[in-house]
Parts: sequence; C-alpha cells; structure tokens
Amino acid sequence: MSAGGQTPSPTPPAAAPRRAGPGSALQRMEKGAIRQVVAIGSGKGGVGKSSVTVSLAGELLRRGHSVGILDADVGGSSIPKLVGAKGPLLDRGEGIEPAVTAGGLRLVASQFLVEEEETPVVWRGPLVTRLIMQFYGGVNWGTLDYLLVDMAPGTSDVPLTVFQTLPLDGMLFIVSPQELATLIVKKAMNMARDLHVPLLGVVENLAYLACPHCGKEVEPFGPSRAKTLAEEYAIPVVARLPIDPAVSTRGDAGTLLDYSSPALTQLGDGFLSALSEAKKRELTVL
Ligand SMILES: [Zn+2]
Repeated sequence: MSAGGQTPSPTPPAAAPRRAGPGSALQRMEKGAIRQVVAIGSGKGGVGKSSVTVSLAGELLRRGHSVGILDADVGGSSIPKLVGAKGPLLDRGEGIEPAVTAGGLRLVASQFLVEEEETPVVWRGPLVTRLIMQFYGGVNWGTLDYLLVDMAPGTSDVPLTVFQTLPLDGMLFIVSPQELATLIVKKAMNMARDLHVPLLGVVENLAYLACPHCGKEVEPFGPSRAKTLAEEYAIPVVARLPIDPAVSTRGDAGTLLDYSSPALTQLGDGFLSALSEAKKRELTVL
C-alpha cells in the first residue's frame, strides 16, 4: 500500500475520453496498459527538472509502483546520465524495447538515438511530433503505474506535441526561486491549462539550504514565492526541495534513482496526493 493510497492494479482502466486541443488535427493516443501519464515541465532550463523527474521516479519505485520515464527533452536529454542508462534502443520488429535500469525503471530517451553523448539532437516540428508519438505508442512499455514525461522547457514544439497527443492525467511544474522572480513558468502553465491538461502542482527546487551546523533552513534567495504562484492557479505546492549536494554527485555517478531524503519522501507523498486531488477536481468538473 502506498502513501498516497494508490495501489498498483493488474487491469488498467479503459482510456478516458479527452478533449482535443483547440484547432488540433492530432489525435490523442490510447492509454493502453499505462495507468497514469504525467508530464513534467518548467518555464526554462537550469531548474533541475530532470533531477526532480528521476527523484520522483525513485520514490514511486520504492513505494512498489512500476514506473517509466519518456525523456522528451529533445536537445537537452539528461535522464540517461542521471540513471546510468545507455542506448541504443532495440527494436526486434515488435516495437521498441525501453532501457531498464537496475532499479527497474523503464526509459526511452532521444539521447539513445545519437551515437555520442555530446551530439545535440536538433529536431523540430513534424519530426518532434513523430518522435514523441513513437516514444509513447511504439514502445513496449508493458503495464506501468506511472509514466513520467520529461519535457523540454517552455512552450516549444515538445510540450505542444505532448499536450496534443498523449493521454495526460496531469502536469507537474518545476520552478526555482530565481525563476519565480521572473514567472516565465506562467507561460507554460497557461499553455497546459488552455489545452485542458490538469495542473497537478508546483515543485520548488533548490528552494533552500540546510545549515550543516544546526540544520536550520536558509533561504539564500529570500522568502519563497511558490505559494503565491500555486494559489493563483489553485494548485498545491507539491514539495519544496533543498539545494542538496548529494543530488549532483549522485546524478554525476548515474545513481540518482537510488537516493532518498526526507525532502524527496515529501515529493513522493505530495505528488501522489496532488494527483488524486486533481482526479477529484476533474470528476467534479465533468
Ligand atoms: Zn546553523
């Protein structure tokens, strides 16, 4: 039994009918055996979105859930490095097999399609759309409790395609204190809202530093503005995560999936409760 009351089910529910985005010629794809599909985005880069995605995946795995990550951060794909996974992706004629890490995370990433880790993937428009649809519908994900979709920041082709084609249960926004000063994230939040993607909540990353001497929380960027932002959209602050040197060292070593901390436990609990709250809100609207 998980903290959020979500129990893995052997029989996934049928795909819920979803509204298509305005003016969209694209069809949302079927849910299949994936129970919950959640997009993770940010207003801009450098807020630690991919680290938070991996940390969340780790928390869900430790609660006994089956978890996949679709790394759709085309051009900035960093999940493989953080979890120590390597390509190439294999297709034996029956669909693409996701990479599977030691902890059991299933993963596909655009980085797996290029030979050198340093080679940037520059894909736009229709190619981005095809890649994301392939990574969702053409992969043998199997039965998953949660598929986390790590998106490119902002309002580019990647989030647009994800919002229009994937059967999303919601979207989680990662912000940093510096970004909260500019509120660029609101553009991404408004885009999701306009395309009828349920907004799950905000995760404030790099929010504070725990004093190594007394454990007191120091806020180098001043008091948090995450609560004000979340209130404006009537969504929760899912978690406030500290600047944690272990996250960087674990990420560099490819072992971030195995790392936990009280703040990351809070992230896991907060995510599960935000998702179930969003479901209740949607049922009320329908
Ligand atoms: Zn102190």
